Order: sequence, then C-alpha cells, then structure tokens
Amino acid sequence: MNTPLLKVENLTKHFPLSAGILDKNIPLVRAVENVSFTVSAGETLCIVGESGCGKSTIARLLMRLSEPTSGRVLIDGTDIAGLKKGSLRAWRRRMQMVFQDPYSSLNPRLTAERIIIEPVENFERLNRRQRKALATDLLRKVGMSPEMMDRLPSELSGGQRQRLGIARALALRPSLIIADEAVSALDVSVQAQILNLLLDLQQQMGIAYIVISHDLAVVQHIGHRVAVMYLGRIVELAACDALFAKPVHPYTEALIAAAPIPDPTRVRLEPPVEGEVPSPINPPSGCAFHPRCPLAVERCRIEVPRLVPTADGRFVACHVRAPLEPKPSMSIQGNPTWPHTTSVALL
Ligand code: SF4
Repeated sequence: MNTPLLKVENLTKHFPLSAGILDKNIPLVRAVENVSFTVSAGETLCIVGESGCGKSTIARLLMRLSEPTSGRVLIDGTDIAGLKKGSLRAWRRRMQMVFQDPYSSLNPRLTAERIIIEPVENFERLNRRQRKALATDLLRKVGMSPEMMDRLPSELSGGQRQRLGIARALALRPSLIIADEAVSALDVSVQAQILNLLLDLQQQMGIAYIVISHDLAVVQHIGHRVAVMYLGRIVELAACDALFAKPVHPYTEALIAAAPIPDPTRVRLEPPVEGEVPSPINPPSGCAFHPRCPLAVERCRIEVPRLVPTADGRFVACHVRAPLEPKPSMSIQGNPTWPHTTSVALL
C-alpha cells in the first residue's frame, strides 16, 4: 500500500491557562484531543466545525507554528513533530499555508514579485532573470497578469491578493497546502473563482489540500473527504458525497441542517441544534456533544465514544449511531490503513 503523504496520529494540544505548565492543577484548554487522519497526494481533506472546535489549531500544529502536547505528524513517513530547526526547514517546503485575510498575510511594503520570490530566496539564490521568470510563471498560474508584478498589495483587489497569496504558497512547489478559511473574507463570486483556481492547480500539479472552513458550501464544492470536529475531536470522517447525502453523527446532521438554504421558497424542517458549544476548559464528561444531543443516552454521559469504522466506509464517534466495537484490525492505533480507506469521491 502507498504511504499517505500526510499521516496525523493521536495529535493532542492542551494550552495551560497560566504560566507554570508543570503545575498539574493549572486548568487546560483542550484545543485538540487525539486527532488522527491521513491525506494522500492530490486529495482534498476538509476540516469543518463551529468556531473553537480546534480546526485552526490543527493547521498550526501541522505547520509546527505550535508544538503538540502529544501525537505524531508524519510527512512521507518522517515525523516532523520531532525534527530540530535545521531539518524542519527543509520539510517546511513541502507544506505551505494560505491564510484567511489576504491583506494582513502579505507584507504591504513588498511588490507582488518580491512577495512571490521571498520564500524561494530563503532556500536558493536567484538572479534577476530567474526572479522575473518565476514571478511571471506563478502569476500566470493563478490567473494574474505579469504586469501586476510591480504592484503593492494595497493596489490589488481582495481576490487578486488571495491569488497572490496562493502564488506565494506555490513558489516552493509544495506537496500540501493548508487553506485556513482561505475564501471566507471574499465576495461570493470571488470565492468561486478562488475555489476553482485551487481545483485547477490540484489537477495540474497534484497538490493535496487541507481546507479548513466553517462554510459547508465551500466544503461540498472542493472536498474529497470531510472531517467534522466538535470540541477538539473528530466525530465523523467520510467521503464528501456520502457525508452530505447521509450524515450519520447527530452533530454532522445538525451542522448540515443549520446551513443556510439559498432558496426562499424552501422551509427548513429540522430545527438546528440548540445551545452553545461548551468550554474546552471544562468539557462535558463522556461524549462532549451530549448536553445538546437529542439522541443522548446514559452511556453518552460517562464514556467518550471512539471513532470507529462503519459498514459504509466512514468513521463515526457515537454510541448510538455507531455502537459496534471496532475489529482489532481496524483500530485507530497502529493500523496502517486507518482512516485512509474511505473511498474518495473525485469531483
Ligand atoms: Fe449523541 Fe450519545 Fe452519539 Fe454523543 S454518543 S452524539 S451524545 S448519541
């Protein structure tokens, strides 16, 4: 079997609420708890969930902008969580990030050409002709005219800035791009252009994406697989088509039911889930969703449900909807195929 491009194993991140991390009594923000998934070359995995569910913390952990409390992040089989600064730099080339706010993520004093070239020049010297050729090529790739090379970010529209951010991410020829709410600050028409650009680039260059979004329409448009997160844990992981056609976890159901319907004549039948997301400082016992779940039973208040495979190839953490214990060969720990076996619905 092919090694996945990215394999995340039991990733956990706790933030102490005050200094003195060795004091066991300091309250912790449990931002990410025991998260595992894989991403293959050329695949798009979307991570969705409400604000504060831990999805952006996962992006920071993958980029090593923050150190995990425990767990492993393997790229092509190498654990980057354990790498020292020098070795980490080389691996950083493989993963790039596109940020939510294209304006604040670009240096306002640099021209478009400098913004694109800067990450490359951290690794290799380029002469003037090579710099121009690279900037021209990448601007064309993202649908911008090379004539914009000398413009500052303030002289570009929001969509052009996000295209420039993507060109900068492409400059190091990464295998994986993490897009954290990359289109949420843009107008809807521009969102569609940027999403289609990402899809085109994926087809041309075989790049894998991790798309972090709270917008289910974005996820449905671009995703191959979807991981739904609630309070730091993945509660459902499935092929995108299967998840939207038939959500299994009650929280996924509620998320999809709460999504805006772009048709004023359609009436929503199911009420969206009630209540607020609990605090990650003091999460509910057992299944963290139990205070809001209409299906909760006594076991839900006591025991954290494990993410287990279901008959249709997805993974669900729910005592009621996925009650079977996993077979030993399909456990999360140490199973080389987990959870990579979910069929991928190509767009
Ligand atoms: Fe609801 Fe229980 Fe399933 Fe949690 S484990 S989602 S509380 S039914």
